[in-house]
Amino acid sequence: MIGDTNQKDMRSITPFRDDRSNPQVQVAAGKGAYDNTRAVLLQIDLAVVKGKRVLLKPNAGRIASAESGITTNPQVVAAAIDMFRDAGAIVAIGESPIIGVETMAAFEATGIASVARERNCPLIDMDTGQPVHVLIEDGVAIQSLTVCPEVLEYDIIVSIPVMKTHMHTLVTLAVKNMKGCLWRRTKIDLHMLPQIDGIDDRSLNIAIADMSSVLRPHLSLIDGTTGMEGLGPSAGQPKELDLVVAGIDPFATDAVACSLMGLNAEDVPHLRIGAERGYGVIDVTRIQVNPDTWHDLCSPFERPPENLSLRFPGVTILDEQSCSACQSTLLMFLKRYGEKLFKSLPGQENVTIAIGKGHESVPYGTLCIGNCTAEHKNQGVFVSGCPPVASQILKAITKRDLEGLR
Ligand code: SF4
Repeated sequence: MIGDTNQKDMRSITPFRDDRSNPQVQVAAGKGAYDNTRAVLLQIDLAVVKGKRVLLKPNAGRIASAESGITTNPQVVAAAIDMFRDAGAIVAIGESPIIGVETMAAFEATGIASVARERNCPLIDMDTGQPVHVLIEDGVAIQSLTVCPEVLEYDIIVSIPVMKTHMHTLVTLAVKNMKGCLWRRTKIDLHMLPQIDGIDDRSLNIAIADMSSVLRPHLSLIDGTTGMEGLGPSAGQPKELDLVVAGIDPFATDAVACSLMGLNAEDVPHLRIGAERGYGVIDVTRIQVNPDTWHDLCSPFERPPENLSLRFPGVTILDEQSCSACQSTLLMFLKRYGEKLFKSLPGQENVTIAIGKGHESVPYGTLCIGNCTAEHKNQGVFVSGCPPVASQILKAITKRDLEGLR
């Protein structure tokens, strides 16, 4: 059974001063993950958290270490635990990872479990609680969400993403990181939405802006210790920055992080849409950033490729409404086993691969990856799973007669 709530409570109650006419963002660099985090939090009045229950929401959505640039650095989380506790808060860490990933295994792999154990700080698998149905009054692409109960039970939610580019959304930062508070598989619903007539923006990006109206973190702490550029959020290159960004307005905090990544927040659809609706400020000229020399820390990130097929010569990727899990699997497969793909196909110079639910048809001979492509399985080779793992794809292409796969 799914409970209901009044979502107005979620967006309006914050102990922090959330002044959208004068947003402030803190940046600290060059001291290592723990001390950078302490430095930015020291600039924020944490006295207001005394006696409050604080939920830290890092990006621990995948089985990956922080050095990969995929997940939040555990020392950022460690410093946040220590700082909030010193301020008198009761702290826990929660996550609901991408489908196919077990939460506690992800906490272990990221190193967050280790720093939590050292501090006797609870780790919460947010997929195990009773989900709550939240209405979105201002929703354009979505009118409701099914969320993990902890986001309502805790007084303060702190979004702690990694600074990453993202194939579908250009970046994934504090606003988008809240998608990891959607309950279990309901996260993938945002990837499956039909295009809205008369609106150029992808429904996924509109839905993230819709989501941000009800899942607004009270504080955003962006980990730029090791970010990810290029094929983010999981198959790009790690990018060392050694900095942390923090602020109360998640849009302003994301906008400053975008600038540090050499990107313009106006080019990030979910940030632009949210800012147009008044959810936050992304015009960096209207944001007070400390220190005022912060621009010197800018280190441009390689953008995600517009077209995956350009990145993998000989492979045509048809991606229609896939979610991050299938995309990660495919990119992982191509990075690890791309050469084997062509060895399995002597004489062939091009392979077509389909992921996602939105294909009306696919060419004959397509490698169809994931259950979402099942209706086209007779067109070529089908790899079941939601998501499949890379080794399953390898097994599928090596064990059967691949004649016709192109
Ligand atoms: S099959 Fe892939 S794209 Fe479809 S829901 Fe599963 S993980 Fe997402």
